[in-house]
Amino acid sequence: MTKTNIVFIMSDDHAAHAISAYGSRVNHTPHIDRIAQEGVRMDAVFCTNSICSPSRASILTGTYSHINGVSSIWTEMDYRVPTFVDVLKGEGYRTALFGKWHLGEHGVSAPRGFDTWKVFPGQGDYIDPKMIDETGEHVVPGYATDIVTDMAIDWMDELSDDEPFCLLVHHKAPHRPWVPDEKHKHLYADGNIPEPETFFDEGLTRSKAVQGVHMTIADDMGADDLKSEVPEHLRGPENRHARMSWKYQIYMRDYLQCIQSIDDNVGRLLDTLEEKGLTENTLIVYTSDQGFFLGDYGWFDKRLMYDPSLQMPMLVRWPAEIPAGSQCEGIITNVDFAATFLDACGVDVASALPTSQGRSFRPLLRGEEVEDWPDAAYYRYWEHDDPIHHAPAHYGIRTKTHKLIHYYGAGLDVPGASDEVFDPEWELYDLTADPSELTNVIDDPAYAEVRRELEAKLAEYQARYADEPYRGPETPRPEWGPYDAEVFAMVQQYVANINATS
Ligand code: CA
Repeated sequence: MTKTNIVFIMSDDHAAHAISAYGSRVNHTPHIDRIAQEGVRMDAVFCTNSICSPSRASILTGTYSHINGVSSIWTEMDYRVPTFVDVLKGEGYRTALFGKWHLGEHGVSAPRGFDTWKVFPGQGDYIDPKMIDETGEHVVPGYATDIVTDMAIDWMDELSDDEPFCLLVHHKAPHRPWVPDEKHKHLYADGNIPEPETFFDEGLTRSKAVQGVHMTIADDMGADDLKSEVPEHLRGPENRHARMSWKYQIYMRDYLQCIQSIDDNVGRLLDTLEEKGLTENTLIVYTSDQGFFLGDYGWFDKRLMYDPSLQMPMLVRWPAEIPAGSQCEGIITNVDFAATFLDACGVDVASALPTSQGRSFRPLLRGEEVEDWPDAAYYRYWEHDDPIHHAPAHYGIRTKTHKLIHYYGAGLDVPGASDEVFDPEWELYDLTADPSELTNVIDDPAYAEVRRELEAKLAEYQARYADEPYRGPETPRPEWGPYDAEVFAMVQQYVANINATS
């Protein structure tokens, strides 16, 4: 019997609301949409920690950050925890990874379980990027998104017939600093990209810790991001809204131009599969490691539990099982991906990847109802040691109708970081009445019962995933991977530069 192939395309920071299959108001992505038209659009896929490296580690291992050790971008993966790629290689699959890895490139942190790999160091560059493989570091001329796709296609060309394969195509784009390919620079250039409805929302019912995050377009998006200085007449607090609108057009123009290159290259991969006669038996996924604020609430970046950041786009085509043009509303997290890929490849997850905390959503892909499917997603953000963004530590739960978030007030405990500590705070949103999450109803007596139920569910899910609720500074911390002091020193330098120029 022919085995299923996996082609897993993941971009970096591509929010669902910048994909036309999800009803984007700002751009058009015909090739990414094709995956949904010929497969399924997943409408409730959530990350468990909205930041690059942690999401990647959760996807590879099927575990939460407190299990795999990647709590933030400067803790390395615990290599005792196996990945779905390790398992597939053991099952005789040919395996490859091209593009962004961001889990360390050297020693035990180097990509593992791949026959072939070539990755960017750290975040990687857009133009003429350096890439690392087992022979060392090389500069590869060209534009990153094209390069990664070329490598993927070349690798598939060398496979012999009937060899099952698992191919990870991990784009750097559209991550900061949003450098587009020359050939897309004419797009979205007229300054008319619609602003989101929540663009000027002041967030006054949100917790104080969130009101203080350094992710505002107005004040935290700098000259490096905009590739130009803010004009004199737009500076100062009195020009805040005009400045936001000016910056938003540049930010989104560059971001969407980067996405257009991804879309072109997704089309090339789909065409390649078709030419090779592999469409029917290949499960192809397009997703992103998390969402992104596209001016929502006046922000850019991610980290927080609001839907623009929490939701991962996910489009899956697998004609052998998935009905074309379908939609799936089941609540899924990135911890479920590994189990699903293994299941699709005919591997028994419980015996092959016993450390997995996820569950295969293969029946949901087929459009089946699963009676005991989880009705909530559990989330925890650990990178409160990041001195750039000032995003507070928090955890919470999202159901189909509500979201409960607890900013538990943990301080920062890394050398040189700010030691700002917040009072613990809670937020509750009614997603049916208030889908944009503008009104925190945590103290509204009408929601007292809902709050009690969600607090119980939060405790239930923390127990299910063996996570420890925060009970003050003495709460035992999970065992993290090695701490990358070099990366953290770079971050401190970045903060010092901002402080020196602002
Ligand atoms: Ca990311």
